[in-house]
Amino acid sequence: MTRLSAITPSGHAHVGNYLGAVRRWAREGSAGDLYFVSDLHAMTTPYHPQRLRARARELLAVLIAAGIEPDQVFVQSDLIRQLGALTWLLECACSFGEAARMTQFKDKAGAEGRTAARVGLLTYPVLMAADILLQGADEVPVGDDQEQHVELARALARRFNSTYGEVFVVPSAVTPAAAARVRDLADPARKMDKSRSDAVGVVYILDDPDMVRRKVKRAVTDSLGRLEYRPDEQPGLANLLEILAACTGKAPREVADGFDSYDRLKEAVADALIEELRPIRDRVRGLLDDPLELDNIRAAGAVRATERGSHRLESALRLAGVG
Ligand code: ATP
Ligand code: MG
Repeated sequence: MTRLSAITPSGHAHVGNYLGAVRRWAREGSAGDLYFVSDLHAMTTPYHPQRLRARARELLAVLIAAGIEPDQVFVQSDLIRQLGALTWLLECACSFGEAARMTQFKDKAGAEGRTAARVGLLTYPVLMAADILLQGADEVPVGDDQEQHVELARALARRFNSTYGEVFVVPSAVTPAAAARVRDLADPARKMDKSRSDAVGVVYILDDPDMVRRKVKRAVTDSLGRLEYRPDEQPGLANLLEILAACTGKAPREVADGFDSYDRLKEAVADALIEELRPIRDRVRGLLDDPLELDNIRAAGAVRATERGSHRLESALRLAGVG
């Protein structure tokens, strides 16, 4: 059984990515799972090439530092030739209507005006289908926002198999047990996001301890002064309790009992986060300072993922009458 998950280098990794995704992958994953840095997906909106390269490296280091086995990781663009080929086959099995229906396209293109949006933003769900189908993944854990894309991958796999011949595993979307959505400390109405330009409420994995403490201390709470876990009425406070709970392995309600002031709680959240992130940050720094180790992990991952997909791609090309 192969599960496939990815993280996009659209910005620096934050504690939401860590507590909600990467830490779980490292703790709860099994040996057949694959994790990749989806740098090609970060090109669908304006981006900076050098920054993309650096962030892809950083995210690869984060995956390793979090304890994911080096033989389970790869960087998407290292497979660009195979993925490019497979994406074309799948685009030729995908209708314009199917691609244009994707709500994420509508959301993201809406902001830029649809005619100005990159064609890549329209077609990237097909690239995502190629990511999944090339590796023969059975399961793709996703949040609500990506479910539709996995549906598309299923539809394309089925269509290709029935039109040209059986070659692809039809993947299923699995919804992981609810992970707390870490909210932006400065704006608890929204989740912490990598691609947010305003970073005051986002705690990055690589932030130094002073910065973590400063951001936590400035976290928006409320003026009710009630130290209880009530996510609807007190979202900022609930977010702090959830973060502390995630770091200590307790329930948010349980951690709330130990405090009599917001300031004390913030101190404890800062302490817990700093300790939680310290080993990861040190290991990421170590990996980024020693390019050879990270380069070797990356190169080996590229070879493994390429080999894994090559027979499937060859069969698909042959069945499609090309190559
Ligand atoms: P972007 O702003 O580019 O969408 P992101 O921070 O939402 O970035 P993704 O690359 O979209 O990060 O998601 C990577 C993983 O991190 C996914 O599994 C996603 O569910 C998880 N994740 C992202 N943000 C949070 C958050 N605030 N809390 C918990 N999990 C999160
Ligand atoms: Mg996201």
